[in-house]
Amino acid sequence: MPKYIFVTGGVVSSLGKGIATSSIGLLIKRHGFNVKPLKLDPYLNVDPGTMNPFQHGEVFVTDDGAETDLDLGHYERFLNQNLSRKNNATAGQIYESLIQKERRGDFLGKTVQVVPHLTDEIKLRIKELVEDEDDIIIVEIGGTVGDIESLPFLEAIRQMRLELGEQNTFFIHVTLVPYIKSIGELKTKPTQHSVMKLREIGIQPDLIICRSERKIGDEIREKISLFTNVPKERVVEMRDLPTIYKAPLILHREKVDHNILKKLGLPPNHGIDLSDWKAFVDRLLHLTDRVKIGIVGKYVDVKDSYKSISEAFIHASVSNDVKVELKYIDSEDLEGTDKIDEFFKDVDGILVPGGFGSRGIEGKIKAIQFARENKIPFFGICLGMQLASIEFARHVLGLKGANSTEFDPKTPHPIITILPDKKGVTKMGGTLRKGAYPAILKPGTMTYDIYGRVREISERHRHRYEFNPAYRLIFERNGMVVSGESPDGVLVEIIELKDHPFFIGVQFHPEFKSRPMRPHPIFHHFVKAAKNRRFSR
Ligand code: GLN
Repeated sequence: MPKYIFVTGGVVSSLGKGIATSSIGLLIKRHGFNVKPLKLDPYLNVDPGTMNPFQHGEVFVTDDGAETDLDLGHYERFLNQNLSRKNNATAGQIYESLIQKERRGDFLGKTVQVVPHLTDEIKLRIKELVEDEDDIIIVEIGGTVGDIESLPFLEAIRQMRLELGEQNTFFIHVTLVPYIKSIGELKTKPTQHSVMKLREIGIQPDLIICRSERKIGDEIREKISLFTNVPKERVVEMRDLPTIYKAPLILHREKVDHNILKKLGLPPNHGIDLSDWKAFVDRLLHLTDRVKIGIVGKYVDVKDSYKSISEAFIHASVSNDVKVELKYIDSEDLEGTDKIDEFFKDVDGILVPGGFGSRGIEGKIKAIQFARENKIPFFGICLGMQLASIEFARHVLGLKGANSTEFDPKTPHPIITILPDKKGVTKMGGTLRKGAYPAILKPGTMTYDIYGRVREISERHRHRYEFNPAYRLIFERNGMVVSGESPDGVLVEIIELKDHPFFIGVQFHPEFKSRPMRPHPIFHHFVKAAKNRRFSR
């Protein structure tokens, strides 16, 4: 039977609970234990696939095609471990399965209630994750203590402590200790109240992580300890950091890992080795040379909507020994202007990320044309690859009105379209192609070299439309190389341009597979190309 760590958050959202969870997972793993993370999201959507990424943040996709919360991206990157749909559950999924059981008559005439039926369903979902080899399951509860919708989740984990015992469960609460400038003081009251709220539900935290912009001195720790009934050595400070990758090192210095293992009765590894992680952070914080990458997207609010892309650039920064600065360019701003070079004059590479819907499309196509004609390193991801194909069709092949049927259903040249399935029927509305698919690389191409000359790769997808094979030949005859395709040769997965220092478009999302010490090869080489351009300028 594994032991459980539960992570809750208090006071406000966005305190970095996901980073704390990932960091603790990493530390426990480095002590030699098998760790499995689980994110429980209290919202009623069945998955975040239908949620606006500009409000909720990026939709992270796993190998098995689950659309998950972006925290799973952090878990994968910190734990260096592939996850699946089992590692994220939403209230929507849990209610759905409960109601299905009710409809099937499983409850034999009973009244179906939040306690015990919904809470049982939550516990079931947690336990379903467990396999024989697991030592520790680390469960992060989304939202903030005090939210109405988190209540059943907190009740479920309270019951788990009762069932499994003190020595098998550990509760961590992440709170905010704000600094009030006018009086120059840190305030503990929000933390006190948040823990009060938890204790009202019956949960006594074992450890508190205090997020703060200032140092939390002894006096503050004592005060929090006194009011929350948590021993002082388990009131931990986590200040704002220059990089999230430093968090595991800070939590280790604060002995969070030792405290957890001690309470759970597990032997710590006194020789725990974090040197590779430390070296990565050191290199990251001491980069001197810079390159600038322009990301041309749709920006309501950039925040977390391209999280995995910005993380992949951090990994590629370290591997290239150059600091990548991201310049977010709103594609709609490019549409009305004839001074497009103004937007890109300080930029060494242009990336067009994935996206849905027609807003800003023409601006992105303009950016791609600019990159192609001026030989600026270009990287197109998913929608970015589709638009690079459209741009090529319009301006190199002279196919007027070329488009994707997503944006112009009546286009005379549907370069990107929904492909008929094997029976020759176009799927109604088209379902998304999601998750890992293999692609076969073409020897002799830049892509083939970038991937280390392997024939077959696997990458994660999330899109509905595809490159239309009817146009493939004329693309190839005119300088666009299909450097990756599906094993049956039907789907175009990667394109690259001859006679260009770096111009690659991929139908998948490579950013999901980039890891701190294992940057994604295309990101690595894209940054390298940008760096070459910067130095030759
Ligand atoms: N909207 C495009 C499609 O559905 C691209 C999706 C994406 O970039 N993830 O195919």
